[in-house]
Amino acid sequence: MGSKVTRKIEILQLVPQKPERKRLTAKQRGYDQAWKTLRLAFLSEHPLCMCDDCADGQKRIVQATVVDHCRPIEEYPHLRLEWDNLRSMAKICHDRHTMRMEKDVTYRARFFERLDNGEIICGANAKEYN
Ligand SMILES: [Zn+2]
Repeated sequence: MGSKVTRKIEILQLVPQKPERKRLTAKQRGYDQAWKTLRLAFLSEHPLCMCDDCADGQKRIVQATVVDHCRPIEEYPHLRLEWDNLRSMAKICHDRHTMRMEKDVTYRARFFERLDNGEIICGANAKEYN
């Protein structure tokens, strides 16, 4: 029979520990120097938000600060440094898009469908809007 303190330690050891969530570093997630350079080049060529609501300055003139991978690099790692897979976005537009991609399967399916049809303004077809 242990003291109160010992018992408390024994009880704590019985509590299952939460699995440690491994947060990958920016580099491990693919955001290395090559990405940083490409990102800056893309932003300087496409300084305006290219989301549906802003349309690269055609609907709204909103400064972009984020470069989005149209096809997410988690699923398409080979498109990480592909100019045609990029689009500049305002942070608020990017956050909204990312949240919908994660939570709304219909939005997600429709987005990929439109991407395949070339209806999404991204690196591949942004030129015509300039
Ligand atoms: Zn936007």
